[in-house]
Amino acid sequence: MSEQTLVDSNVSSISKAGLLSEQLLTNNLEERTVHKFGGSSLGTVQSIESVLAIIEQRISDQDLVVVSANGKTTDKLVEIIDLVNLCQETEDEAFTHLLLLIQAEHKQLITELVAGDSETAIELVAKLNDDIRQIQQWYLQQQLIDNSNNVLAFGEIWSSRLLAAALTQRGRAAVAIDTRECFVLDCPLKTTLDSQLSSTNLHSKLKPGQLHILTGFIAVDRQGKTHTLGRNGSDYSATLAADLIAATDVSLWTDVDGIYSADPRIVPSAKKLQRIEVSVARELGRLGNPVLHSKTLSPLKEKSIHLHINNTFYPQQLGSEVGVFGEIARQEVSITHSNQLIGFQSKRFNKKLLAVISEEFSTVDIDAAQKRVIISAEQAYGLRHYLQEQCVDFATHSMSLLAAVGYSIRDSRWHREFIKTIEKSPYPVAKVSVNEHSLVAFSYEDCQIEWVNKLHNRLTREHKNIGVIVAGTGNIGETFLSNFSAQQQAQEALNQVHLIGVMNSTKGWFDVDGLSADKVASEFSNNAQPCDIEGLLTWVQRHPFDEVIIVDITPSEQFANNYQQFFDAGIHVISANKCANTFAREALGLLQQSIDKNDCQWLSNTTVGAGLPINYALKDLIDSGHQIEEISGIFSGTLSWLFSNFDGSKPFSELVKDALDLGLSEPDPRDDLSGLDVQRKLLILARMAGFQLDLEDIDCMSLVPESLKSLSKNEFLQQSHLLDKAFSEQLAEAQANNACLRYVAKLTYIDGKIRVRVGIEALDNNHAFANLNPCDNIFLLKTNWYQDNPLIIQGPGAGREVTAAGLHSDLVHLCRQLNSKHQDVDIKGIN
Ligand code: ADP
Ligand code: ASP
Ligand code: MG
Repeated sequence: MSEQTLVDSNVSSISKAGLLSEQLLTNNLEERTVHKFGGSSLGTVQSIESVLAIIEQRISDQDLVVVSANGKTTDKLVEIIDLVNLCQETEDEAFTHLLLLIQAEHKQLITELVAGDSETAIELVAKLNDDIRQIQQWYLQQQLIDNSNNVLAFGEIWSSRLLAAALTQRGRAAVAIDTRECFVLDCPLKTTLDSQLSSTNLHSKLKPGQLHILTGFIAVDRQGKTHTLGRNGSDYSATLAADLIAATDVSLWTDVDGIYSADPRIVPSAKKLQRIEVSVARELGRLGNPVLHSKTLSPLKEKSIHLHINNTFYPQQLGSEVGVFGEIARQEVSITHSNQLIGFQSKRFNKKLLAVISEEFSTVDIDAAQKRVIISAEQAYGLRHYLQEQCVDFATHSMSLLAAVGYSIRDSRWHREFIKTIEKSPYPVAKVSVNEHSLVAFSYEDCQIEWVNKLHNRLTREHKNIGVIVAGTGNIGETFLSNFSAQQQAQEALNQVHLIGVMNSTKGWFDVDGLSADKVASEFSNNAQPCDIEGLLTWVQRHPFDEVIIVDITPSEQFANNYQQFFDAGIHVISANKCANTFAREALGLLQQSIDKNDCQWLSNTTVGAGLPINYALKDLIDSGHQIEEISGIFSGTLSWLFSNFDGSKPFSELVKDALDLGLSEPDPRDDLSGLDVQRKLLILARMAGFQLDLEDIDCMSLVPESLKSLSKNEFLQQSHLLDKAFSEQLAEAQANNACLRYVAKLTYIDGKIRVRVGIEALDNNHAFANLNPCDNIFLLKTNWYQDNPLIIQGPGAGREVTAAGLHSDLVHLCRQLNSKHQDVDIKGIN
């Protein structure tokens, strides 16, 4: 059993992620998490305080905490060992300097985090001094190299002791556990555990009522000799511990909120990868990327453990999740580099020896033809030792790598792109190695930051991953969805746009791995689950996309009332729904604040004139300095049709019924006859033109007499003949003057005076508004520069196809903007 379990357990990774914080707060014994804090989270007093706060708020006693050494302690301990290995003249001085520095740093952390004059602090400092003396003694007795793993172990020992003491002093009982008392390796070279023995050992240490702080990075062999799990090995310690206690989640707390498309410290345009395939993460680790140790994922293969990478400095942010996902997550590419490689070359590297090396060591590349093995500098010690033992002569060279890692990248379009970029780049390539999930260029020269950026920009200049949720499955919603796939094919801006949810007022169908828009019509009813706006809000709060857009094709005021919450969650909105656009100015101001604060976009170009570009024309006139003097026209397709056909040959009420039968009116025709829709549209245009108005500032003539307003729809239809007398009289009067009746919206702004109204007008038969195709809309814009010859836009202003097309136009515009939006990575910490 292996990745299949991960597939099953990740079916609903988003709901899982959504549950995470709740689970942490609700002491659910079945759900245990191992939290690992890396050196970058433990380097300063301030960062350790963040860790303490996370533990306090999110970590319960049945969870485990695994810690790395504080800050760069391991680097310094490695430096000490290297000094001795190199036997330089100034060794004594440098050794003493480094050791004192390590001692001083740790002493300072103790005094600042554990009240300096307390007994606990005094005891901790005394233990630290003993340890420092021990290192000195090994040095003086020339036993330091033999004890190098014991020296390295101190980093994690000091860190776990300090955290346990600081917690205890803050009233949270905690105890440090040296994992050398539990983790027993059955094969030290491969760093695999004797699980049974290690589990028994660990469980014997776990006591109720206290939090256990385990040292990462270290273990012992069967003889009790200390071994390290390799640089960044605490990640691996955490997943090993999770395996032993059957935890459901592992959280790696570090100084970035996830795995990025490149190291965000050196590639400013790197973007967070929300979901990373296990195989891709493993490959990143194998190539030496520090964000995940190469072995971290091996214990996960056996059990369904979810792995998250979280940011200690922004704990509320949703980090990356490592697991097995669908196509969308598999399209991500990450660039990594390392200058810490050693190439071993030997004439004696025959097939047999290379097979043994491959079996025993984590190599980065083995090349039988070149008789060369490339391995991390860290692992090189072991290989060197092994080859010497086997009396194999070899030469070594420093090497570097620059790689693109992605799911099945070998068989993807990235392969050619990578080769082309590498060929053109100044990175002096010694060899390109093509693997299933990685393309690696090796060199004998260091890889420069500039080259990493170049490759990254070339391979990831692609679009963002954008999730789209469609709310509303009526006529327009259906048409919008039926055109979705064709648009995705046709529009470059939609390359990485995925339909991830469709909902109506009672049900929703969501899938972070994407829905096929073509199947929604036939499969929605079978797949949709009961869902309300609350459910949607919870779901979108923790989505794994770079951006999410909600397309509101509902007529619902209740839905529009949630826009603020969408914007607060960083979600963008495209609305055909006019409700929010016509909120009172105060409420609209709050929406705008939320949009600005969260860097969101809200497009609603179909709310007036459906697909007609009236909004763009108006914006363009304003941008180019025109002063608007009149906005007028016929804004309702239904009223346009009714009055175009109202020539006296048929009573008005009969035409109303015809419009209903032909599907040209709202289900209740009074919604059109009330004029509210036209009033709203005029308000939207007026506000766009900069006039500070509210709905009640616009005079609205309703065509529904008081007596018919409160009837049921059927009663209204039965009694609609009551409309006819008044309409016939008005028509007769107009016709006597060579005029016709039209329902007109009109804003005028002359000499600083504004007049806004919607209602019936008698217009000369030659008037521009008098000769429309039935159903058409017409918009007239008069400005200081367009006076006698105003700008007119005329055409179908309603209908499912044109409205859906207008929404697609908004989607393309929005995606273009989002694709060019750059977010700087905010990094705190010590590195
Ligand atoms: P910790 O001390 O928490 O174990 P590390 O320093 O080992 O953290 O690893 C985190 C660092 O990894 C980040 O600060 C970042 O500079 C580096 N890094 C390299 N590549 C990536 C990547 N693709 N995504 C995120 N971080 C990366
Ligand atoms: N302290 C060790 C290192 O720096 C282990 C770890 O941080 O994961 O590599
Ligand atoms: Mg690390």
